[in-house]
Amino acid sequence: MPLPVDLSSSSRLDAAAVRSGKLTNVPSDHMAIAEYSHGEWRKGRIQAYRPIPMPPFALGLHYAQIVFEGMKAYRRTDGSIGVFRTERHHDRFNRSLRRMCMPEVPYELFADAIHGLVAVDHGWVPDGPDSALYLRPFMIASEERMGLKVADEYLFMVIAGPFRPLFSRPLRIKVEREYVRAAPGGTGYAKCAGNYAAAMYPTKLAQQDGYDQILWTDALTHSTVEESGATNVMFVIDGTVVTPPLTDTILDGVTRASALEIASTLGIPTVERSVTVDELRDGIRSGSITEAFGVGTAASVAPIGSIGIDGVDIELPNVPNGVAQQLKKAFADIRFGNEDPYGWMHTISERSVKETV
Ligand SMILES: *Cc1c(COP(=O)(O)O)cnc(C)c1O
Repeated sequence: MPLPVDLSSSSRLDAAAVRSGKLTNVPSDHMAIAEYSHGEWRKGRIQAYRPIPMPPFALGLHYAQIVFEGMKAYRRTDGSIGVFRTERHHDRFNRSLRRMCMPEVPYELFADAIHGLVAVDHGWVPDGPDSALYLRPFMIASEERMGLKVADEYLFMVIAGPFRPLFSRPLRIKVEREYVRAAPGGTGYAKCAGNYAAAMYPTKLAQQDGYDQILWTDALTHSTVEESGATNVMFVIDGTVVTPPLTDTILDGVTRASALEIASTLGIPTVERSVTVDELRDGIRSGSITEAFGVGTAASVAPIGSIGIDGVDIELPNVPNGVAQQLKKAFADIRFGNEDPYGWMHTISERSVKETV
């Protein structure tokens, strides 16, 4: 059932500027919102994007019962709009929510909020191939309460804005040997707000040293590689795509899972196994490691050009038509073309656009 829509009385949409990618990082006109209290979801709707009332004692503001997702709607070459892998993002959202003691969001509500918002704000989806409408589903404990407890009231929302990736040049990343993003038994696998706050200070230090991002290592020995910023990492070692296996310290990226599947289809061998920092250093120097790249919703596939290990920057060669390029092209074909061999795209049809608005 589509969510009821209360259209905004004014629009900030400059359609030409959005379509051409000139207008980015601004919220679209509408948002989806639903309230949870006393064990049930109520009043899901789409309304004008605006500030939300939040009591200063809201539990989420103090104890970080806050979980989010990041996904995208793409404008295909034929003008239609597709949303990438709603089901899989929903699965992960609920996994994160369970870890934070927050109630799950039923698939219908999640999908109706996302697809309904994209239908209403379809004019905000820029043209490809680098741009997309970024979608940010999130949930926060809204109950007003002084003491530390699991909240009984929540807000689930979806907000959106046209977006284009920041990095176009290969990334410079720093292997982190001191700070920790995620420890065994912790919350690293959840897309919960606190993880990102805790990563800011070490990331700032790395950026002061000229790096774009941190390559996190395991919390106990700092000797095996985990992931980087808000992307999972992959290496091409002797022609095989190698990526660290999923544990509770690594975020289960939708792009990671999709890239592994695409690589297999392309006939590129893949393996999920641990990679040590020593193996990275030696492999890049000997030439057995030919590529390193990040995979995530924000940048799709982002080549890594240099890795700083204990103060020494090791450069990776620039590989034209390498695995990163092939994966990036395959993603673009699925998202912007009209072929969807995996059934990953949810089409926002013209009909649903007209019926909703
Ligand atoms: C979101 C995120 C990723 C990438 O996940 P995608 O679903 O591919 O966008 C990887 N690592 C972290 C820490 C993240 O927050």
